[in-house]
Amino acid sequence: MFLIQEQMQDINTYSFQGKRAIVRVDFNVPLDDQFQVTDNTRIRAAIPTIQKVLEKGGSLILMSHLGRPKKAEERFSLRHILPAIEELLGVPVLFATDCMGEETAAMARSLKPGEVLLLENLRFYAEEEGKIRGLPEEASEQEKAEAKTALKESQQRFTAALASYADCYINDAFGTAHRAHASNTLIAAHFPNDKMFGCLLHAEILAMDKVLSSAVRPVTAILGGAKVSSKLAILENLLDKVDNLIICGGMSFTFVKARGGRIGQSLCEDHLIDTALDILKKAEEKGVRMYLPTDVIAADAFDNNAQTNVHSIDQIPDQWMGMDAGPQTLTAWEQVILNSKTLLWNGPAGVFEMPAFANGTRQLVAFVANATQNGAFSLVGGGDSVAAVNQMGYANKVSYVSTGGGAMLEYLEGKELPGIAAIRS
Ligand code: AMP
Repeated sequence: MFLIQEQMQDINTYSFQGKRAIVRVDFNVPLDDQFQVTDNTRIRAAIPTIQKVLEKGGSLILMSHLGRPKKAEERFSLRHILPAIEELLGVPVLFATDCMGEETAAMARSLKPGEVLLLENLRFYAEEEGKIRGLPEEASEQEKAEAKTALKESQQRFTAALASYADCYINDAFGTAHRAHASNTLIAAHFPNDKMFGCLLHAEILAMDKVLSSAVRPVTAILGGAKVSSKLAILENLLDKVDNLIICGGMSFTFVKARGGRIGQSLCEDHLIDTALDILKKAEEKGVRMYLPTDVIAADAFDNNAQTNVHSIDQIPDQWMGMDAGPQTLTAWEQVILNSKTLLWNGPAGVFEMPAFANGTRQLVAFVANATQNGAFSLVGGGDSVAAVNQMGYANKVSYVSTGGGAMLEYLEGKELPGIAAIRS
């Protein structure tokens, strides 16, 4: 599928001269006790889109959520991040203390080319997410239905008000692209001929499609983390797309047990044993080579200072648990990764938060970086894998680091994300 379809506009060719663009960004950044931004990755990621509009003579209205407020609350105010945006952008940014209201509309209307206005947290309004708030638990079915209808109607007004601020709409919030909220889906309908992806959203889709639909083979997916259950749909979808599937971390033990291995106290989802067997069978039928760990660093407690031993993956003593990939496993995975032309990595190889069990994950980062240096395309996503890449200072040594956890996972499951569909439809 072409990324930019007929009815859509392309941010690179659209004429922003004298126009006001309303942009859904993802400024949901972590703050410390003093309301200082502790990680500005998401703000940095939105800068290319903002700069593009400014360079082309437009003005901007930026809108985002921050945290999960249930009403207007100072601690969730986007005002806190104004200095961080101004510093990265290098221009002053105006602030509207409410994303609704006549005063805000007037501020937006009077924007001149080159000016930027940030709106207060969209989630101060229930209309953004379209979820009913404050209804007592004992409310009757009829009361619930009435509240739902009322919210739907006011959501239309909320969306129309946001749309009225601007001449065109850009969605650049990959982190919320899997949510059907007012600011990233409903609003697009108000701009049938003037809606487009921002640079970040465009880059994210391009990177994922490079793995899913236009991959150079051999393609290897490395899936790790705690649970099979949270990655089941991805596993199913990837079986049709990849040549090799490396299963690592806690989720591997359900597969090992399914094959009859002794896994001791290792993490396991017993109710998914049959599913794991089914995945192994499907992989064989489809010619996908599955790589489970063959040895493991096991510990006698879930503790950084626990006693450790290397065990064969299917011979873990009863009171011990698998915590990280073993040396033989890592050697085998290194070969598979280095022989790949396309790589997708999501999820750690062990309990990497504990230094004693971080080696496997760190080695994975290095293997993926080496393969990239040899010409492979590599996409890394998911909070833990991204954290590992950043911790090692390797963000520039892989091809693409995704900014969206949940959104990326749903895209890899093969779902059409509402935020993307609204621009394409
Ligand atoms: P997820 O959110 O599913 O990607 O899982 C990430 C979590 O998996 C991290 O917090 C890791 O500590 C955890 N994890 C990875 N390997 C293991 C393991 N062998 N045993 C327990 N937890 C693990």
